[in-house]
Formats: sequence, C-alpha cells, structure tokens
Amino acid sequence: MEKVSPMMKQYMEIKEQNKDSILFFRLGDFYEMFFEDAILTSKELELTLTGKNCGLEERAPMCGVPYHAVEIYIKRLTDKGYKVAVCEQTEDPNLTKGIVKREVVRIVTPGTVIDVDNLENGSNHYLMCIYQQAEKNFGVAVVDTTVGEFKVTKLENKTLSDLMGEIAKYDPAEVVVNARFYENEEAKRAICDRFKAFINFLPDYFFDLDFCIKKLKQHFNVATLEGYGIAGEENVLIACGATLEYLYQNQKSSLGHISKVSYYNTSDYMILDLSTRRNLELVETLREKNKKGSLLWVLDKTKTAMGARLLKKWLEEPLIHQEEIIERLDGVEAFKEAPLLRMEVRELLSGVYDFERLVSKIVYGTIHARDLIALKSSIKMLAPIKLNLEDMGSVIIQKLNRDVDLLEDVWRLIEDAIIDDPPLSVREANMIKKGYNKEVDTLREAKNNGNTWLLEIEAREREKTGIKNLKVSYNKVFGYYIEITKSNLANVPDYFIRKQTIANGERFITDELKKIEDTILGAEDKLIKLEYELFEKVREEILKQIVRIQKVAGALAVIDVLQSFAEVADKQKFVKPEVTSEDVIEIKDGRHPVVEKWMSDGQFITNDTYLDNAENEIAIITGPNMAGKSTYMRQVAIITLLSQIGSFVPASSAKVGVVDRIFTRVGASDDLSQGQSTFMVEMIEVANILNHATSKSLLILDEIGRGTSTFDGLSIAWAVIEHLHKKIKAKTLFATHYHELTELEKKLENVKNYYISVKEVDDDILFLRKIVAGELKNSYGVQVAKLAGVPAEVTKRAKDILRELERADVVKKEETADQEVDLFSYVNQLNIEAITPIEAMNILYELKSKIK
Ligand code: ATP
Repeated sequence: MEKVSPMMKQYMEIKEQNKDSILFFRLGDFYEMFFEDAILTSKELELTLTGKNCGLEERAPMCGVPYHAVEIYIKRLTDKGYKVAVCEQTEDPNLTKGIVKREVVRIVTPGTVIDVDNLENGSNHYLMCIYQQAEKNFGVAVVDTTVGEFKVTKLENKTLSDLMGEIAKYDPAEVVVNARFYENEEAKRAICDRFKAFINFLPDYFFDLDFCIKKLKQHFNVATLEGYGIAGEENVLIACGATLEYLYQNQKSSLGHISKVSYYNTSDYMILDLSTRRNLELVETLREKNKKGSLLWVLDKTKTAMGARLLKKWLEEPLIHQEEIIERLDGVEAFKEAPLLRMEVRELLSGVYDFERLVSKIVYGTIHARDLIALKSSIKMLAPIKLNLEDMGSVIIQKLNRDVDLLEDVWRLIEDAIIDDPPLSVREANMIKKGYNKEVDTLREAKNNGNTWLLEIEAREREKTGIKNLKVSYNKVFGYYIEITKSNLANVPDYFIRKQTIANGERFITDELKKIEDTILGAEDKLIKLEYELFEKVREEILKQIVRIQKVAGALAVIDVLQSFAEVADKQKFVKPEVTSEDVIEIKDGRHPVVEKWMSDGQFITNDTYLDNAENEIAIITGPNMAGKSTYMRQVAIITLLSQIGSFVPASSAKVGVVDRIFTRVGASDDLSQGQSTFMVEMIEVANILNHATSKSLLILDEIGRGTSTFDGLSIAWAVIEHLHKKIKAKTLFATHYHELTELEKKLENVKNYYISVKEVDDDILFLRKIVAGELKNSYGVQVAKLAGVPAEVTKRAKDILRELERADVVKKEETADQEVDLFSYVNQLNIEAITPIEAMNILYELKSKIK
C-alpha cells in the first residue's frame, strides 16, 4: 500500500466512501474507472479495458469516458440499475501544487438522473419512496427531479394490490423503501417484475419522524408544515423526509426547484388497479408496450413536453369530483368552439420549450447558454398566448391565464446578457452580448483589435516625440515594448521606462502599453473565465425566479392539454359528455377510439349503452368469438374514463354518472411470470373486484370462469353475478360464452341480456357488430375457426363432432324424460292401501336406486 501513487491513494479513499457506486473519477478531460469498476463498466458499456501504473505490483485495470459525453454513459449505467458516483476536480489544476482536490459532487441512481437531454420528453421520470409503517399502512412519496414535482399520499388499511395501483400510476424508475417493506419478498418481486423498477433499501435513520420533519422544514425553509397539509401525518412526513434526504445525499445540490410538496388523497381520484390500467391500454399497449395503439396515442395532440406529461398524468388519474370535471370540460369546449384561436394557440405553444426541465437544469447548474436562448424565445410566446386566451369565456381558462406571468424581467435579462447564437459549451467565449459588461467588451476588443491599438499607440508616440522610426514590437521575454534607435534616444520623453539596451538602440515600455499588453495577452483566457462568471450570475438571477417560471409552466401544461382534447374532439368527432351524479351511464352511438382509429372512416359500427343501478345494472353479453364483445365493453369503460379526465368522448351523446372505480377482468394477464396459472390470476382478480367494488363502480368482466372446466366455470360465473346482484350492485358488463347465464335475466330483476349480432350466410357468418337486447344461443366457434384459416379438414371434423355431441345431448335429455315417465307411471299404479309399511320401505329403496 505504501508504494501506491498519491493519485491512486486519493482514488481509494474516495472509493471507500462510495462502495456501492461505480466511481467516475475525473482525470483531466476524462472520467476514469479503476479495478472492479473498470472491469464492470468496460463490459457494460463496451469500453476498452486498459491498465494504469499506480505503484502496485500489477497495473490497475482502467477504462474511461471523455468528459463531454459523460452523461450518456451514466444514463446507460443507471438504466441498468447501477449507481454512479461522479467525482470532480474541485480545484483548478493550474493553481495547485501536487495532487488536485477531488470530491464526489453527485450520485446518480436510476430515479435521480438529471441529464434531461437524454430522457423522453412526454414522460415523467419518477423516484418513489415507500414507507411501510404497518401491514396495511403506507406513506408514499414521488419526486421527479427533472421537473421538480414532489407529491405524497398515504394508504391506510390498504392492500398490496392498492399499493400496486398507486405505483402503476407513476411507473417509477426507482423505488426506495424501508426495511419492513424490503423484507416482503412478494412485494419486492412485484415491483421489480411488473414495473421494471429498481428497488433500494434505505437504513432506518432515513425514516425517523423527527429527523424527517427537520429535513422538510429545512428544505422548504418554514417553521411549520401546516401550509402543505401534511403536519401531523406521520407516514406522509416520513415518506417525504426520507425522499428528500435520499436526494440530498445523492445530488448534493440545493434542489431549489422542488419548491413545494403536494399532498393528495387517493380517494379524490378514480381508483384504477394495475390490471385495469393495463387492460384498458391507457398509456401503452398490453403486449408490445408501445404508445402507438394506446389511448394516449389517440389523445395526445399536445404541443409542449409539459402538456404531454400532464396528459399522461390525467389519464392515469381520472377525477371523481363532478365540478372539477365539468370545469375541464368547459375549458375543452371553449377551445373546441374557437378553431382559429386554437390553431393560433397551438402554433404559439409549439414555440415553447420545456420550462420545467429548463428549470431543473438551472438548479443543477447544467444549463447552457443555448438553453437560455430557448427559454427566452419561449417567454416571447407568453404575451400572445395570454392575449389569445383573454377573451375566452371559460372559468378554468381565465384562471390559468392569470397564472401566465409574462416573465418580462427574465426575458430582459437573457436578452441583454446572452448572444442569440451562443456556443455549445459554457466554457467557451462569445456567450455574452456586446454592451452587457464593459470588461467583456474591452477584452473582446483587445482580442480582436489588439493590433490596431498598437498601431495607434505607435502613431501617437511618433507624433508626440517626433521620432519617425519609433516602433512598437513584441518578444516573449518582455512582451510589448517601444524600440528607439540610438540616434533618437535624446528625444525619449520621461514617461518611457527603460527596459533593455540592445546593439543599435534601447527598448522602453509605457504605462499605457503595459495596460494594453495585459489586456491583449490572456484576453482569451480572461474572456472565457469572465463570460462564465457572468453566465453564472445570470443563472443565479433566474434561479431566484424559478417558482414564477414553474407557475407559468403549470398553467401552460393545462392549457396545452385542454386544447389537445379540443383538437382531438374536433378531428375525431368527439362530443361533450354530460357528467352527472346520477347513477346512469347512457351512451348513444359509442365508439372505441383506438379500434376506430385503425379503421377507415365509417367502418366502425357504433353502439348504444344504458346502464343504471336498477333494472339495467348487469348486462350479460353473448355473441360469437370475434363479434366485438371485448371492444364494446372496453369502449364503455373508456368513454366513462375519458369523461372523468375531462375529455370529450367518441359518441353522438353521452351521459355519465361519475364512477368511483373501474374494474376490468379481461383476457390473459401478463402476470403469468409470477408463477401463477391463468386461472389463478383470473380468480385473484375476481376476488379483488368482489372485495373492493361498490355500487358506484363500473365492472367489465370478460368470460369469467373460462379458465377451468365448464361446470366449475359456469358455477363460478353464475355465483359471481348473483353476488353482484345481491351485495355489490355495481354497473356491470359481463361477456360470456355460457349461454346458461342468460337464464338469470328471468330470475334477477336487474339483469338484462344482450348479444352482438351476426348473420349466417350459408356456412359462414357475417359480423354485424350491433348490440341488441336478447340472447344468442349459437356460439359459431367452428365458423370463426374457419375464418381464422384453420384447415378445412379440421373444421369439417369439428362440425361433425359438434353435431354428434348435440345429438347425444338431445338423446340424453329424451332418455331422462322417458325414465321420468316410467317412474311416475309405476308410482301411479301402486295400490297404497294394499301394501305393508315394510313393502313401502322396499319400494322407496328401489325407486331411489333407480333414480341413482
Ligand atoms: P372473443 O370472444 O374471441 O374475445 P370478441 O367478441 O371479444 O371476441 P373483439 O375482440 O371485441 O371480439 O373484436 C374482434 C375484432 O372485431 C376487433 O379487433 C375489431 O377489429 C372488430 N370490431 C369489434 N367491434 C367492432 C365494431 N363495433 N365495429 C367494427 N369492427 C369491430
């Protein structure tokens, strides 16, 4: 160890404190990794592994990445779940003797990346902290460090499945948890498998209540947390405090953009469990996980990154308060009715950069001059946006417009200070505008006009002294000097300072020349340094205004989503739903917005829906495979959900009584990786629905019970409907191939039968896709198989088998009937008075064995 070079000794000390991270160690223009870090990183990032002599017997394994590309390498590592500690040189190497001081300036984890340039714009990047206090009690905080959003809630008396729904809402990149939660293997696995999130455990002190309260007060610089609505909420305070501590430990910066924490109540939003979110394909498709093909894909006509993120959030969080929904709908209507104005606002919004991420770059000090120019040009859009919105009648738009602060001071600052086309790096000259700072102007002039100045001095001194051959020259030792030949020495004025005697004359300097020399020499270096300092000052000035910028960003995001809803409504012919508190969902000519979008105009067949909490509570839907049952049921769920996020809906009219939850049990789930069978997964979901649904919920149940034998499945389906009818009383759409279930219409007053119609044409079927009241006895499975291209040989044979089975069924029924007739006529012939009690017992015994 004694032989180790000083640099390597420093490396080892720093590494010792950051054992769980890959250490990026700054050496000049590179970040280098050593030893195991180097071996690991070279593999993960496909870098060349070299070695460095560092005094040890063997060369230390080493690999490196250039400093200017470091963020992309860090992102690739954190995407794989690693933590990266970035160690910088914290002193100027030119001013230091010996080893330069180095420090870890930030630790990047999957959930705390700050390199916003390499993140997807339309999505948030969340870190979540879960504090499990008791079996069913949790505090949950989420933070997006790239935009400064910080939210928190509590789940009390809630199950793991409720928690999963909450996690699904955010789809975090990283989850940090306390020890109690970490010990729960099932929960941990669920998070890793279902969300592909990285889960980290934090030690107990992070979750100490007093510590957390102190941390929060310190961060927000307040004496009480009352203002945030979280005071006294133990689990909430702990989740927030632990999150902040984790961020401080990793980011080592002021986190000024996290200017508030918003407490929300999960019961203020429609509750969507994980499988419903996925089944309805809200933000990505079930199988390929693509945005294309999801509801978001149809809805997203936003023009800003802030709007795109908010739209996604709204989709994940439908509202349940009628007034709030109506307020949004009115905003959308106002935009829909003003197409020209909307076009203009859309145009202006497209010129607005991502304020939220620009703000985080300002906080983290990663902002470039070009970002400031982007900010400036975005600010320029604010006044015309505000003007456009001024005359719009909607309450919500007026409210938002009041929040559109024109940020003129910020604009002015950037306009005065920063050149319109600055260089890429902040470590280059030519960022600062002419006229902003005298010294910069002088330095630049010196750089550019140095020669002219020297010529001017030369001419002036010649004239003053009358020495015609007086010359200003330069050498490395003396810098600039004035050279006078021997014959003219007598005319040298006294402000000339002698410096050197040479063969044919002498060399002098003057104060003026010295000053100019100082200015010219090192002008470039000085310029770079000074311009950077001035840039930093501008950054700090803007930093003071971030709360204002964030407020504008928030308003613009909502405006963008409202206009996007209006644009979709206009282009896709959506209508404004009537959102009520009545227990009715009434849709006329409803469509499935995604299925419809894949088709050409007019191809999608519209359908009506009427559900209430009386006679039309449970709709049992039959119809052949491929008829459109799932599409129809999802369309009802989606129209309801769209109404509650404040969007118009694909229908000719819709009345939607607010629902508290939407549950879906459809198709195969993707949870098979959890080691559970299809049937088990199905039953877990059914259990969840029956345990949580209320009379205010909307249930979409597709072929419950199909994963097991016919009788088991039918019995379960039957019993589920009875339970829904008796106990839960939720509006339900229930698709099934068990035709026996249609009997329930006669038995239960709130059940109605429907089927999706088809037409038989010879041996084939034609899908009409219209839902009608009544039941359809035939399943047409073989015809659908034929349509699907199953070989004719097989479908023909299937048809024969089917016919045989049906015939056998008829024969069996006839035989049973015959036997019943036999039995009755036998009993009828008995002369009861003539037989003894023992004989009667024997006859009974005989009858029973016959029935058996
Ligand atoms: P299965 O019982 O086999 O699950 P299904 O009855 O649920 O079938 P869907 O999956 O809903 O049938 O629909 C099958 C296909 O029919 C859809 O992919 C879509 O292309 C088309 N379709 C469904 N509904 C309509 C409609 N209303 N108008 C036009 N096409 C439709």
